[in-house]
Amino acid sequence: MSLMIDVEKCVGCGVCMQVCPAVFKLDDEEGYATVISREYDDKTEGFVKEAIGSCPIGCINI
Ligand code: SF4
Repeated sequence: MSLMIDVEKCVGCGVCMQVCPAVFKLDDEEGYATVISREYDDKTEGFVKEAIGSCPIGCINI
């Protein structure tokens, strides 16, 4: 799955990391989230989708 965060829009709220820490990480210095893994199992994919739906900006794209 191709997974991208639009860092120009990300506000660094950390919700994606809270929902799915196996895939998303907040870069405290830069102030935006990054994708740390693009390979994950079906169970984790459910959390990825939840994170996408939970992002207040809608800046996580697949
Ligand atoms: S939930 Fe969205 S806005 Fe918040 S840190 Fe993650 S990608 Fe950025």
